[in-house]
Amino acid sequence: MLIVMKFGGTSVGSAERIAQAAALVTAARDKGHHVATVTSAMSGVTNSLIDAAQAASKGSPDTTLRQRLFERHKAVADAVIQDATVRATALEQIDRRLDRFEKLCYGLSMVHELTPRLLDAISGTGEMLAAPLVAGAIAARGCPSSAIDATEVVVTTDQFGAAEPLMDDTRTKMQAHVRPLIERGESPVVTGFIGATVDGVLTTLGRGGSDYSASIVGAALDADEIWIWTDVDGVLSANPSEVPDARTLPEISYSEASELAYYGAKVLHYKTILPAFRKRIPVRILNSFNPAHPGTRVSVEGDPSIPGVKAVTSIRGVSLITISGTGMQGIPGIVAKAFEIVAEQQSNVLMISQASSENNMCFVITAGDAPRVVKALRGTLELELTRGHVEEISAQPVAVVAAIGDRMRGTPGIAATVFGALGSEGINVIAISQGSSERNISLVVAEPDAAPAIRALHRAFRLDRAAVAAK
Ligand code: ADP
Ligand code: ASP
Ligand code: MG
Repeated sequence: MLIVMKFGGTSVGSAERIAQAAALVTAARDKGHHVATVTSAMSGVTNSLIDAAQAASKGSPDTTLRQRLFERHKAVADAVIQDATVRATALEQIDRRLDRFEKLCYGLSMVHELTPRLLDAISGTGEMLAAPLVAGAIAARGCPSSAIDATEVVVTTDQFGAAEPLMDDTRTKMQAHVRPLIERGESPVVTGFIGATVDGVLTTLGRGGSDYSASIVGAALDADEIWIWTDVDGVLSANPSEVPDARTLPEISYSEASELAYYGAKVLHYKTILPAFRKRIPVRILNSFNPAHPGTRVSVEGDPSIPGVKAVTSIRGVSLITISGTGMQGIPGIVAKAFEIVAEQQSNVLMISQASSENNMCFVITAGDAPRVVKALRGTLELELTRGHVEEISAQPVAVVAAIGDRMRGTPGIAATVFGALGSEGINVIAISQGSSERNISLVVAEPDAAPAIRALHRAFRLDRAAVAAK
C-alpha cells in the first residue's frame, strides 16, 4: 500500500523528532508499504520567517535570523545524517535557501512594501529547510530518499497566502516526478505548505497548510492512505489544551472532519479533507509522540452508531457584523448587496444568521477584515442608511462555538441541551445557526465566553466518556 505521511512542525521540531519521523517512515516500509512524506517546517520557523519579513519591510531587518536558522538546521543535520556527503549536500541546499531568504529580506528593507507574493516567498522557506533533513534522516536509516520542492510538483492558483491546487496539473507533475521515485523503491520527502503557479512563482496554501498538502499529494499519487502525524492522539472531542478531559474520536466521517476543521479544530487545516474525500482515501491522524495509539480514522462512514454531538470546537479572532433597522423588512436586495460587498472585499463569511423578523441580519468574518467590510457596507448602503431602512451597521469581536456530529440529525433534544448548558453557566448566545445538514449547531458568543461555553457543552454531552453506540 502507498501511504502519504505528513509530519507537523512539532513532529520535526528537533533532531530527536526528525529521527523519530524517519523511524516511523522506515517502520512502515519494513511492513512492505511505500511511503511518500510531506513535511512542515521545524516548529516556530514559519513564525520567525514571517516576523522577519514584516520587520524588513519596516526597514529593520533581522540580521541574525539567517545564522540562527542555519545553526538550528545544521545541528539537526550533524545529529541525524551520518554520511558526510549526504550531510554536506543537505547543508548546501539549506544554505542556498537561506541565502535567497536573506536577499528577499534585503530587497524588502529597500522597498518597504510586503506584498502577499513576497510574504509567500519568504514564509515558504521553512519547509524547504526541513525537507533535506527529513530526507537525510530517512536515507540514514537505509532507505533512499530525497527532498522535493513542492514548487516543482504542486501547481496552484496565484491567490498568494491561500492558494488553491490545480489538481490536474499537480497530478501530471506528481505522476511524472514523484511516482517513478516511489516505484524505484525510494521514499521521497515533499515540502508541505507551498506550491507554485503555472509560471513557477512560489505560493503558500495558508497557515497550517501542510495538512492540505498531504491530502493534495495523497490524491495526486492515488495513495491508499494519508497519515497525519501530529502532537496529540488524533482528533479529540475538543481542543485538549482547552478541555483537559477531551477524548480521542476513533472514527469520524469526512463530513465530520471537514466540519471540525472548518469550525476551528486546528489539528487539521480547514481544507484538508476535500482532496482525500474526492478519492475516498482514508485519512488517519496519529501522534508521533505516542505512535502506538491508534488515533483517529477518517472515512466515508465514520462511526454512524454514535448518536448526537461528537465534538465541540471554536473559531476565535472573528467579528460579528450586524446590519439592522426596522425598515429592512420587505426591502428586497439588502442581503444580496451586503454579501456582494463582502465578496468584493475578499472576505470569507464563516456563518450567517438572520432573525425571522427581517429586522436584523448578521454574519461572522475574520476580525482583521471587519473594519474594511464595515466601511464598504456603510458606503454602499449609504442610501438605505439615509432613508432609515438600515439604522446600524456594526462589528463586534466574538467567537463561534460549534457542536458537531453526523448523527445530530434525527437526535432530538440537542438544541435544548445546548441552551440548557449555556444558560446554566450564564452564557449569553448572541446568534445561532444550524446548517441544513444538521451536522452542526454554531453559536456566536462574546470572546471571553468561548472557553466556558466549550467546557459546558463538552460536559453536557458527556464527551469525556466513551461514546455508547445507539441501538
Ligand atoms: P501540527 O504542527 O502537527 O500540524 P497543529 O498544532 O497544527 O499540529 O495541530 C495540533 C494541535 O491542534 C493540537 O496540539 C491541539 O492543541 C490542537 N487542537 C485543536 N482542536 C483539536 C481537536 N479537536 N483535537 C485535537 N487537537 C486539537
Ligand atoms: N509551516 C506552516 C505553518 O506554520 C505550515 C504547517 O506547518 O502546516 O503555518
Ligand atoms: Mg498544523
